[in-house]
Amino acid sequence: MLKVKTCLYNTLTKKVEEFVPNEEGKVAMYTCGPTVYHFAHIGNLRSYIMEDILEKYLRFVGYDVKRVMNITDVGHLSSDGDTGEDKMLAGAKRENKSVMDIARFYTDAFMNDCKELNIKRPDVVEPATNCIPEFIHMIEVLLEKGYAYRAGENIYFDTSKLENYYVLSSQNEAELQVGVREDVSEDENKRNQADFVLWFTKSKFENQELKWESPWGIGYPGWHIECSCISMKHLGEYMDIHCGGVDNIFPHHTNEIAQSESYLGHKWCNYWFHVNHLNTKNGKMSKSKGEFLTVSLLKEKGYDPMVYRMFCLLSHYRKPLEFTWEALDNVATTYDKLIQRIRNLSSDGNADEEEVSLYTHKFAEALANDINTSSAITVLYDMLKADIQDASKRELVSSFDTVLSLGLSRAFEKEELDSDLAAYVEAMIEERKAAKKEKNFARADEIRDELAAKGIILKDTREGTVWSRQ
Ligand code: AMP
Ligand code: ZN
Repeated sequence: MLKVKTCLYNTLTKKVEEFVPNEEGKVAMYTCGPTVYHFAHIGNLRSYIMEDILEKYLRFVGYDVKRVMNITDVGHLSSDGDTGEDKMLAGAKRENKSVMDIARFYTDAFMNDCKELNIKRPDVVEPATNCIPEFIHMIEVLLEKGYAYRAGENIYFDTSKLENYYVLSSQNEAELQVGVREDVSEDENKRNQADFVLWFTKSKFENQELKWESPWGIGYPGWHIECSCISMKHLGEYMDIHCGGVDNIFPHHTNEIAQSESYLGHKWCNYWFHVNHLNTKNGKMSKSKGEFLTVSLLKEKGYDPMVYRMFCLLSHYRKPLEFTWEALDNVATTYDKLIQRIRNLSSDGNADEEEVSLYTHKFAEALANDINTSSAITVLYDMLKADIQDASKRELVSSFDTVLSLGLSRAFEKEELDSDLAAYVEAMIEERKAAKKEKNFARADEIRDELAAKGIILKDTREGTVWSRQ
């Protein structure tokens, strides 16, 4: 383990505090996954990029991390309260497909976006529809313990049974009055305003496509129960870090705590890590507003996804971040210069252990301060400027990039690729020269065509054959 004191802002205590996991050297981490009814927008992906950095930083300093993520493929209604249509059903209707087809398609699309952005796949990825028996079990226990009730043939969590339901948020009952939030309408079955649905049987969503048998009749789970169950299924009764975007604090994470701790009878998760929003000039980027940016769109416009990753890393995760094309263009220029600078490092000599250790600590310390990614990038620049061996710099670039994942090492790979390609083209030119000498023009033409198919153009000059990329 590297000797650094990791400090994180904890939404639960509302302060930056030292991170101490339950089990020494091990971290149990959970991330709320996407609702797979549409493409992820780059706002969603900001959250996943910053959570990826947190995970990779913890691994960098030596923790053995197990990270679990759900895929929401049922139960998330168009309002985060229990009103509106199931988002999955709305997606299926929009595209005239089945819910499972939609789920499969957008889960793959999400994983692909993550790959493009160098976001590591969590150790466990579990769709909600895989865990119906676990949800039913937890709801049964909550009913037995008196934390849940049946009304209007749905099962609700009774928030009045808790001393401090709003432990995570500053929300209170008054703020939740119907009408304050436009998308909340009164559900007459609820005993208390803040109560939420654990299991729907009879509701206004008669056309719900996915339904399962349960002790309370055929129905489907509420959204919040899935994260409590899926995390416990894979991480057990105690969790170290739970992540999500700030919009998940209330009601989703508040409800997760209510259910989990009532079920377990003890504290569940110690640290809550929330990423602030990516905004546009019109406010939070969101799918429901219709207009949103995706990774594919950035690529179509000619941006390397790494540029967007760097754009995110240059800001602190707890601050709102405004997206503009101008800002992205500036980062694109910065990124190209950075890659060029790394490419210019000499590949001769050996790394110096002391130099590597010094900058490794500086880098870790920057991130240990509540995942300060922009400071970590400053350490990268300071290191590149420093009067140390190029070989040390190369080693440090590769090592920092196990966390930053900005594709920095590809500056080296490209060099290797270039030299492999050059050797191959030179060999082909020699073979073509020999073929011509033997008047085997057919083979000479074949070689020219073969290279052309690989984007290599040959030009015969008085000084010999030269080549270039198309
Ligand atoms: P969803 O697919 O809607 O369940 O959201 C997936 C994740 O993206 C959640 O952690 C949200 O909190 C997060 N999220 C949603 N909108 C934004 C945004 N504009 N900026 C950053 N994160 C967001
Ligand atoms: Zn969740």
